[in-house]
Amino acid sequence: MTAASENPAAATVPSVVDLLVTGGDVLTMDDTRRIILDGAIAIRDGIVVAVDTTSALRARFPGAAELDATDCVVTPGFVNTHQHITGDPLARSCAPDDLPPGASIFQWAVPLNDAHGPDDDGLAATLTLVDSLLNGVTTVIEAGTIGHLAPAAAAAQTVGIRAGLGVWGWDIEFGPFTAPTAETLARQAATLDMLPTCGLVEGWVSLVGHDLASDELLVGAAELARQRGAQMTMHISPTSNDAEAYVKRSGVRPLVHFDRLGILGPHLLLAHAVWLDDTEVDLVTTSGTSIAYCPWAYLHHGQGVSKMSSHMRMHRSGVHIGLGCDAPNANDGVDILDAARLAVGIGKDAPIDPTCCSAYDGLEMATIGGAAAAGMSDRIGALAVGMSADLVVHDATAPQWRPRGNPVQQLIWAAQGRTVRDVLVAGRQVVRNGRCTTVDEVDLRRRAMDHQSGVLSRAGLTIPQRWPVIDGRAASLGDGVLLASAPAQASAHA
Ligand SMILES: [Zn+2]
Repeated sequence: MTAASENPAAATVPSVVDLLVTGGDVLTMDDTRRIILDGAIAIRDGIVVAVDTTSALRARFPGAAELDATDCVVTPGFVNTHQHITGDPLARSCAPDDLPPGASIFQWAVPLNDAHGPDDDGLAATLTLVDSLLNGVTTVIEAGTIGHLAPAAAAAQTVGIRAGLGVWGWDIEFGPFTAPTAETLARQAATLDMLPTCGLVEGWVSLVGHDLASDELLVGAAELARQRGAQMTMHISPTSNDAEAYVKRSGVRPLVHFDRLGILGPHLLLAHAVWLDDTEVDLVTTSGTSIAYCPWAYLHHGQGVSKMSSHMRMHRSGVHIGLGCDAPNANDGVDILDAARLAVGIGKDAPIDPTCCSAYDGLEMATIGGAAAAGMSDRIGALAVGMSADLVVHDATAPQWRPRGNPVQQLIWAAQGRTVRDVLVAGRQVVRNGRCTTVDEVDLRRRAMDHQSGVLSRAGLTIPQRWPVIDGRAASLGDGVLLASAPAQASAHA
């Protein structure tokens, strides 16, 4: 009996398909986590209609067009559940990585967002989303800080990636894109009107979160999400600051306060949730709330994740935990498998127990965990009949895959996103042989370079240099020009 014939949906399998992805070792991430060596996936109208061995599907669909994945590993597309796609992507690696707490946000990210015009948002989104595809990420949930939605949404549609997008949502007194509560809620509703749910690019209710929303906004946003069948996301507790603020504000920790307001639930994806106490972990579990876990951001900022993280424990107990790469001021990469590797490492190291999790947990978080956290587990996260054909072909002839071992371990610990060869989103090939098919990458990166200085200038920022920099490019004759001199502490690092 073939795999597809075991599935009730097999009765509806068409006799003709658009494409067979053949010859690869397929990590299906289906309900039983089958791994099919020399496997194949049949796709019709962007949907997976059969998953089986290559010989079985060639026999069933003779003459079908094929994408040859021989010597490759095929996985579902990866899900990034927390990614800022505007604001600081054009200033990647510009903010120093040793700033004091909060400075990368308020001295860099906020002014950069404020300095962005519509064109900058569209370009930054395109850059981030193309890089995501090149790392095998087929779904990106934006973190709720888009200033100009229309160009960002157009960018996602042009790139051809699956995305959940939201606009800045806060009703604080001062800050970019802040507005009174009613106006902030109206913007959220307009986002849902513009980008209906279940499209490739869908609207989300998104608040900045932290301690930067009134109770009226928190409740109104949750009601809007529930009424419209939309998902909602917001930041909370990457450090101890939010807990201290909420105790001062309401007498209880943040998730206890949210529970009293009635805003927790399956519609809600909390970004971070690192500094939770046991009561808050219980509230996440019992309410069905999901978490976007961005381990590189907490290490980059030195926020105590290795002491406080309960994410792996929550994942193992059934909480929907997705992975995120956050923002360039916190993590310059968008490789979700790199985040998965780190999540597994922290999961072992924090309890000082190598037996408590494995690469299998990391791959679950990057696929079905992220899909469930984003409220999309009916569509993405696994290669199974009826799911969208969002998949990644990894080139297993690359050095990271030779010699071959356990494919799950090798993907997480050795390859990450560096061996992505081809990517399909809803059956459309958006990466071929490591190059994006929907956007001219050379022109994209040139435009990003051109826009950077203008954005930094409008934000009043310059790229600091600790060590002396000699600009040989500026000197057509003779010695180079000294651009920056080394402060005294540089010699201590030399
Ligand atoms: Zn964030």
